[in-house]
Amino acid sequence: MQTSFTPEQLADPHVEHSEKILRSCVHCGFCTATCPTYVTLGNELDSPRGRIYLIKDMLENDRPADEKTVLHIDRCLSCLACMTTCPSGVNYMHLVDHARAHIEKTYKRPFMDRLIRNILALVLPYPGRFKASLYAARLGRPFAPLLKSIGPLRRFGAMLDLAPKTIAKPSPYAKPGAHAPASERRGRVAILTGCAQPVLDPGINEATIRLLTRIGVEVVVPEGEGCCGALVHHMGREEKALEDARRNVDAWMRQVDNGGLDAIIITASGCGTTIKDYGHMLRMDPDYAEKAARVSALAKDVTEYLSTIDLPPPSVDPNLTVAYHSACSMQHGQKITTLPKTLLKAAGFAVKDPPEGHLCCGSAGTYNIMQPEIAGQLKARKVRNIESTRPDVIATGNIGCITQIASGTDIPIVHTVALLNWVYGGEKPAGVPEARPGQRTSLEALVEAAE
Ligand code: SF4
Ligand code: SF4
Repeated sequence: MQTSFTPEQLADPHVEHSEKILRSCVHCGFCTATCPTYVTLGNELDSPRGRIYLIKDMLENDRPADEKTVLHIDRCLSCLACMTTCPSGVNYMHLVDHARAHIEKTYKRPFMDRLIRNILALVLPYPGRFKASLYAARLGRPFAPLLKSIGPLRRFGAMLDLAPKTIAKPSPYAKPGAHAPASERRGRVAILTGCAQPVLDPGINEATIRLLTRIGVEVVVPEGEGCCGALVHHMGREEKALEDARRNVDAWMRQVDNGGLDAIIITASGCGTTIKDYGHMLRMDPDYAEKAARVSALAKDVTEYLSTIDLPPPSVDPNLTVAYHSACSMQHGQKITTLPKTLLKAAGFAVKDPPEGHLCCGSAGTYNIMQPEIAGQLKARKVRNIESTRPDVIATGNIGCITQIASGTDIPIVHTVALLNWVYGGEKPAGVPEARPGQRTSLEALVEAAE
């Protein structure tokens, strides 16, 4: 794609980076076929190519964002399916991040839009505030249908709909400290506690720590870590996102310097994608560039780390059918596609790939609150595809997807690591059917082995 930025514009390193990305796009349109918003809405401006044109026009003319550009950029899920499909290696993620920061600086959103975005940014990244809001949501839940029928309030209705019916007790595993290995030490890792996940499902990190310590890995929950910054980053609030990133880099580097770390374990793939990008986000900060790059290199999804370790023989033969839902941030953001399924198969599960697995479930951070209609259509499509595989249980690696899909199906959905922890000596996750050892036919076993 030809561009015509002036030398003055290109003196801004953000513009210079985006210009390179724009020039790499050959506008072939392959990406449109796998873009969930284009597939759902059928509008070129809701496709990656259309958005790239809108961003180019906005940046090249150095103009404030307008309503049309904001509408179509806001509808983007940041699922990054377009990056997986693109044959030219267009880094759409960095381009849309730049566009969102530009929108945030130059566009005044309508009042309700500003209000709900401020509420989300002030509540979700803070576990205490988020938990209090879930209790409030329990009281407000009966009003969800009414709120959803009033245009400007429909997002509050969507929020109430998503709030879980029961609120989990806090886990002692979320507190800062070290968890010693139960057998001879074979590694030392830090684990990201995060913000929303420990409130919605503290059992995920609990299962991870129990599994890792059982197989000889020391797990540290570092003092001072918090939200990875993804939520505000996707809102274009660059400074706040960088502040979060710096705080986490400091917390993890203290551990690197005091005892060393083999990895920083992340159990929410949405956070993993952002932390693996800290090196880029902080590249212009002389005090943090190098440390952030080290942190990004150490960041590993829990399934990536488990794949590097010899696991003991399973203590349970689950023999259940698992539909594996690959979160967009896992498959498109981090390019982790086969590892979680390989681990589940080795643990004795029959793993099914639902059709249209590349399409987002509509969760996408706060997308299901900000764009409830499109998110609802994507959820229904995802649930239909998952249910067509007739699984006993659904596994995935991202809390956002768990919340979104659980609100559309009765099939239990759990984090992949919760199933692995069960098979390798831990507790069975709540809601998952009992193991059915010995019922799989030898033909099924042969087919799975061949896969
Ligand atoms: S597939 Fe890649 S090169 Fe083709 S239009 Fe989409 S972003 Fe541009
Ligand atoms: S990130 Fe997802 S929704 Fe956004 S343009 Fe790319 S494929 Fe479409």
